[in-house]
Amino acid sequence: MVSEGANGNTLIIGSTGFIGRFIAEASLDSGHPTYLLVRPASPGLSKTTHTIDSFQDRGAIILTGSVDDEDFLEKVLKEHKIEVVISVVGGARILDQLILLEAIKSAGNVKRFLPSEFGHDIDRADPEEPGLSMYNEKRRVRRAIEAAGIPYTYICCNSIAGWPYHDNIHPADVLPPLDRFHIYGDGTVKAYFVAGSDIGKFTMKTINDVRTINKSVHFRPPSNLFNINQLASLWEQCIGRKLPRVTISEDDLLAAAKEMQIPQSIVASFTHDIFIKGCQVNYEIEKPNDIEVCSLYPDTPFMTVDECFQEFATRVAVDVSEAKLAQKLKSSTTNDFILVPNAK
Ligand code: NDP
Repeated sequence: MVSEGANGNTLIIGSTGFIGRFIAEASLDSGHPTYLLVRPASPGLSKTTHTIDSFQDRGAIILTGSVDDEDFLEKVLKEHKIEVVISVVGGARILDQLILLEAIKSAGNVKRFLPSEFGHDIDRADPEEPGLSMYNEKRRVRRAIEAAGIPYTYICCNSIAGWPYHDNIHPADVLPPLDRFHIYGDGTVKAYFVAGSDIGKFTMKTINDVRTINKSVHFRPPSNLFNINQLASLWEQCIGRKLPRVTISEDDLLAAAKEMQIPQSIVASFTHDIFIKGCQVNYEIEKPNDIEVCSLYPDTPFMTVDECFQEFATRVAVDVSEAKLAQKLKSSTTNDFILVPNAK
């Protein structure tokens, strides 16, 4: 059953981004010939350069250009016989994918297109502004892909595992709280929290699976379904202490959304949709174009939220010991440290 789909050269656009890094890692892990479209380096972006270098060391082929350059994209798609295009561009670039789509149509060799989704089912979820505007753009891209007849897969992976801060677009990049928890509403509405590495791994599984052609793939691993009260308790167990809980009401989230601070207000509107309205759990997977990822790959486990939080807790422990060491170095005299020459 899992065969005939596209299984060849894969182009990833946005591989230096938050979600894109996981996709690129997984593509390289899976052994697909991996092409990464990256923008020309900006001076001072050493973190990005380091990321690209590490992908290149692992065999990625780097192509320099922009997602809004149709002629360049068409040339690249043809020249490198690209069969799969995965776009992981950020919120500000969603509509540029219409240009990418034109290039895909003209090139004619792409067997699967995964547009930049990687969140909720945007045809079902209905967030307040400014999240709604982003969804309207993503919806436009979906309709254009469907009208063009390009085989697609929409990845609806829900939330990335981490503490769901209502003002941080990349929550897995920072530690869960160490001072107090913000609990949204009564804290009982559940959501799915999926490790970034699993978003990458399962996305790569879908691209050469005929069962996922023209489907929305929903990530609903039962082991990763938590409400925010449970998430707080889990984190408390990991760090071995209790933290105070402060309620952030529905009105607080709506007020933060209304401030129209981009991108924080977008995150506030999604937080409202997830933890007040239950947008990840308030529907059945029943449409002909829906498929659940665990039903596709029942033998491949998901990383649990507990495992993800243990990783964060390890980082806390490292931070604490580094801080202690720095403090010790600061308060020590040079006589405290005796340098021993290499003994032969
Ligand atoms: P980022 O902003 O972190 O990354 C965007 C990527 O696109 C970067 O690699 C950037 O490159 C690249 N890019 C930007 N402009 C261009 C261009 N003109 N040409 C080529 N590449 C370009 O995006 P995110 O990872 O935050 O978002 C990706 C998707 O994931 C979105 O659809 C978003 O909604 C979703 N998402 C889902 C989350 C979840 O919890 N499920 C959380 C966050 C996002 P450069 O390094 O040069 O800037």
